[in-house]
Amino acid sequence: MTAQLKEQRCVSLSQLSDLRLLREYAYIDGRWCSADNRQIIEVTNPFDGAFLGTVPNMGASETRQAVDAAKAAFPAWAALLPQDRATRLHRWHDLLIENKEDLALLMTLEQGKPISESRGEIDYAASFVAFFAEEAKRMNVENISSHLPNRNMSLKREPIGVTAAVTPWNFPCAMITRKATAALAAGCTMIVRPASETPFSATALAELAERAGIPAGVFNVVTGDPAPVVGELCRNPIVRALSFTGSTEVGRLLLSQGAQTIKKMSMELGGHAPFILFPDIDLDQAVEHAVGAKFATSGQDCLAANRIFVHRDIYDAFLDKYAKAISELHVGNGLDEGTEIGPLMHDRAVAKCAEHVEDARAKGARVLIGGTKMGGLFYAPTLLADVTEDMKIYREETFGPVAPVIPFDTEEEVINRANDSEYGLAAYVYTSNHDRAARVSNALEYGMIALNCVKITGAPVPFGGVKQSGLGREGSRHGLEEFTELKYVCAAFAPQA
Ligand code: NAD
Repeated sequence: MTAQLKEQRCVSLSQLSDLRLLREYAYIDGRWCSADNRQIIEVTNPFDGAFLGTVPNMGASETRQAVDAAKAAFPAWAALLPQDRATRLHRWHDLLIENKEDLALLMTLEQGKPISESRGEIDYAASFVAFFAEEAKRMNVENISSHLPNRNMSLKREPIGVTAAVTPWNFPCAMITRKATAALAAGCTMIVRPASETPFSATALAELAERAGIPAGVFNVVTGDPAPVVGELCRNPIVRALSFTGSTEVGRLLLSQGAQTIKKMSMELGGHAPFILFPDIDLDQAVEHAVGAKFATSGQDCLAANRIFVHRDIYDAFLDKYAKAISELHVGNGLDEGTEIGPLMHDRAVAKCAEHVEDARAKGARVLIGGTKMGGLFYAPTLLADVTEDMKIYREETFGPVAPVIPFDTEEEVINRANDSEYGLAAYVYTSNHDRAARVSNALEYGMIALNCVKITGAPVPFGGVKQSGLGREGSRHGLEEFTELKYVCAAFAPQA
């Protein structure tokens, strides 16, 4: 890094109580490494563009080194007793909690999200570490009733081997622990390639993994441009499983790259969640929940309520209350305690919000609140009413603070419209009628259904989507199974003479 860049470094970093948590290197085989060609990626704060630091811009050859290190570390890690893996994971969990303030500060600085949300994400991230530490001890499978004479038949679950994770910038810590601790608990080793926008959450995790006694080569972080690093992870035959969180478009590309080596691929991809409000509800509560479901992470959330379907009987009343609630959201620097909406990640995210709003406005939607750029990477929290099927926002993820509202008349109509999407991650339904709740949740083509609530995720539940929202599940024992293979053992024995 040049002396000039060092001087310009964001002053907020000085608030870190443990400066060693800001690691500007990749972590391979227990060593902190630069790129072979000394190339770097600069990391900046999306709030004001302030310089935060750099990480190595590695390529395929450094990625191969990480894969080889993970391969060498695998036998000893897999051979540990599950309770010994669990002990180290529990230590890692405790270190995350002890360092929560520093980790949250790093996250807000590189990602922009409000500091209260960053603290929440550290708790969420740590909960996977604790959960999978315990789950390591329960990789039990089953015995099989033999269909052949004189045989004992059993199944074992074995770690799949070397694994890889490719993670996005919107949840820079939790998307790593949700994958990595499941893999490590199962006895696998892993190479993580974090998004280039938010590498410091990943390298801080590596620093704490090292302090927790996770052995060299078991958990590796390779930073660098996506195509060479992820391309190598997808094509390298030593990598037996790859878990990706990101857009459906990139997921498709990685599936095709991984096909060369018949990898086990799990995919947590885009979402376009319907948020359905029937008339028999507590409207004030529904409005409060609709704010949370749309505007958390400043709208940059795969679970975001992207199509808010409101029954015509409560349509106007909902819009009035929702507009008021949105107008009260506090936009600003994520480091300020009162901030509820931070900056977006890129110029292109701001441009996409503007494009969706202009397209909707031109096709007849009413802009009730917002609808403007606010300078820098900020877009005003926006409410669009009367959204129709021909508008881009009806089909595409905006990934920003724009709430599109659509009126409906009948249960059948809203089910059909909610299912009319290539996505199938999460759906929200509000009704006090139990029969309707059962009918609608049965009919919705989504991996996760939230009935009269918005907070549904957590370590014990299987997170994931259907259709083009993904393959596989994360969290819960099913998340651990993604990193295992079943082995069937058939043992013959001599019958009694
Ligand atoms: P993205 O697909 O652009 O990037 C995700 C990751 O893939 C990043 O690490 C990125 O650097 C990498 N990547 C980008 N282009 C690549 C390429 N050509 N080859 C290899 N790697 C590449 O997505 P994003 O913009 O970072 O995140 C937003 C998307 O992620 C949204 O669609 C959102 O719905 C989805 N998401 C899904 C979940 C989930 O659990 N289902 C969670 C968070 C985000």
